[in-house]
Amino acid sequence: MSHTPESAESAPVSFRSEVTVELVKHSAADSDVLWAARVSTAGEQSLEELRKDPERSKGLINYLMRDRHGSPFEHNSMTFFISAPIFVFREFMRHRVGWSYNEESGRYRQLEPVFYVPGGSRKLVQQGRPGKYEFVEGTPAQHELTTRAMEDSYRQAYAAYQEMLAAGVAREVARAVLPVGLFSSMYATCNARSLMHFLGLRTQHELAKVPSFPQREIEMVGEQMEAHWAELMPLTYGAFNANGRIAP
Ligand SMILES: Cc1cc2nc3c(=O)[nH]c(=O)nc-3n(C[C@H](O)[C@H](O)[C@H](O)COP(=O)(O)OP(=O)(O)OC[C@H]3O[C@@H](n4cnc5c(N)ncnc54)[C@H](O)[C@@H]3O)c2cc1C
Repeated sequence: MSHTPESAESAPVSFRSEVTVELVKHSAADSDVLWAARVSTAGEQSLEELRKDPERSKGLINYLMRDRHGSPFEHNSMTFFISAPIFVFREFMRHRVGWSYNEESGRYRQLEPVFYVPGGSRKLVQQGRPGKYEFVEGTPAQHELTTRAMEDSYRQAYAAYQEMLAAGVAREVARAVLPVGLFSSMYATCNARSLMHFLGLRTQHELAKVPSFPQREIEMVGEQMEAHWAELMPLTYGAFNANGRIAP
């Protein structure tokens, strides 16, 4: 869902409920794992040799995953272009190992007025206690309130930002009024091992041996990255799921 309200003429603010993830560059295949693993016993091998025995290849990847021999899963690279609210990026950048980030600047350019509003399917109400809680549907009144409160607040914040810019205040100062629901964008580069660690923590999945309770919005990013990765490295992806989605 994405819309620009007609009433926001002075500040052309728009609201979005989705995050987007584009795979912009990759060098990632199951054969990268096999090469790296087999160098310890067989030296350099051709792709043809690796293709000769697919069952053996699948078995080796599964063994590496199961016994947590992680380094063969690092010889590959995926670069994603991600568009998501700032609060998602705050969580994302806690993942320090095997990740590189570059995010758009609020110092060098004016930030675009695009803000996050939860979609109709976003569960709004938390029940239980931290570490043992679940989210349930909100009522129509809660959805209406959330949308209205967020949109009003975003409009007001962006109007203040524009007012300061118009008065000559520097972008890096004026941006302080913008909330964490503002959309940002970044390139994030990882390898299969660091992605698996991320997915183990930031997605909920029936095959996960260790359950996690991620915020839904970062999970939405994780799900899209996962779908791209599954296409690039199907054997590795299958072994990750078969072994409880624990990064090796
Ligand atoms: C559901 C959920 C709730 C969370 N809630 C909070 C919260 O309330 N507050 C908060 O601050 N954070 C919170 N986090 C963030 C969390 O604490 C981690 O920072 C984040 O998940 C990244 O995990 P990581 O450190 O394992 O990843 P990475 O930084 O990518 O590290 C990968 C691995 O490398 C090793 N490693 C990395 N750095 C070090 C180091 N300095 N010393 C030793 N080993 C290291 C560890 O084995 C680590 O698992 C939450 C995360 C999740 C998934």
